[in-house]
Amino acid sequence: MARVFNFCAGPAVMPEEALLEAQRQLFDFNGSGMSIMEMSHRGKEYDAVHTEAIANLRQLMAVPDEYSILLLQGGASGQFAMVPMNLLRPGETADFVNSGAWASKAIKEAKIVGAVNVIANTGKDIPTRLPAVADLKPTPGAAYLHITSNETIAGTQWKSFPKTGAPLIADMSSDILSRPFDVKDFGLFYAGAQKNLGPSGLAVVVIRKDLIERCPETVPMFLRYKTHAEENSLYNTPPTFGIYMLMLSTRWLLKMGGIAGIARQNEAKAAKIYAAIDGSGGYYRGTAVPEFRSNMNVTWRLPDEAREEKFIKEASAKGLKGLKGHRSVGGIRASIYNAFPPAGIDALVAIMKDFQAANG
Ligand SMILES: *Cc1c(COP(=O)(O)O)cnc(C)c1O
Repeated sequence: MARVFNFCAGPAVMPEEALLEAQRQLFDFNGSGMSIMEMSHRGKEYDAVHTEAIANLRQLMAVPDEYSILLLQGGASGQFAMVPMNLLRPGETADFVNSGAWASKAIKEAKIVGAVNVIANTGKDIPTRLPAVADLKPTPGAAYLHITSNETIAGTQWKSFPKTGAPLIADMSSDILSRPFDVKDFGLFYAGAQKNLGPSGLAVVVIRKDLIERCPETVPMFLRYKTHAEENSLYNTPPTFGIYMLMLSTRWLLKMGGIAGIARQNEAKAAKIYAAIDGSGGYYRGTAVPEFRSNMNVTWRLPDEAREEKFIKEASAKGLKGLKGHRSVGGIRASIYNAFPPAGIDALVAIMKDFQAANG
């Protein structure tokens, strides 16, 4: 049974090595006679997995001691709600950059909790883009500034991050662990796991410890970062299988040379597709302004929708799956996260050339 080239935006491709290891251990984890999902989350076998997952994340991103790493449930959308509940107190304002559909959802949740100031809105711009960092006008005394480090649907990615004085909060769901960044530039960042980390449902949250204390007393225990930080994300039964897969995928990433190693590969992968787009004489048109092009989600159009549909169909028949753009924007999207193999990029570029020759 051959694996396809999986360009799905999320849930997305995982490292083959991690899948095979999970398969090997599924029936009998480390000689325990049980699978990892059948055993106590307080036992020593699971504890080793939990501890390694967090330690790998800390090592990969060089997370300083003054930050906690939390493994929570509810994916990234859970964080759209938890961030304002914990960090936007009565009378305060939260700044947001609206760069598209994901930021819009985060803004909606924050507005339920308190005052929101959208200090830049590029969410509907075509070609897709992000605001220039220098143009941002933050609210004086804002509780935080929230951005989406990589807009999965639009195919845009911040190349440098704003520094406004307010704690910077980033939804990194679709580019966490894909490139180097300085954790200290952020008050908090989070990611749903299903793009670059593991299976869906799990969220990784990295939070500066002083921010953990901000939460108002009116927030239920379960929704406080403090509750989970104090219990090392074992306040209740965590999603143990998801955390196991996170541990395996971060272990794989360390073997790949960590973030520096994978970032070089990610850069080279994306550059090949962008070169194919730019070298097509306008047949393929990139959707994002070049300076904001994402290395994780490459988005482009063909001359018309009929050919886009045909392209997706023909690629799929050749084992290149999931190239359809998000239903809200159409076009083509190649999601090429960490675990997406370079050979799949070459296969895609070859198909792009052949398709243009046959359908130009
Ligand atoms: C996929 C995605 C989400 C949604 O994640 P869920 O785990 O489904 O809540 C949020 N933000 C970004 C940037 C995403 O790519």
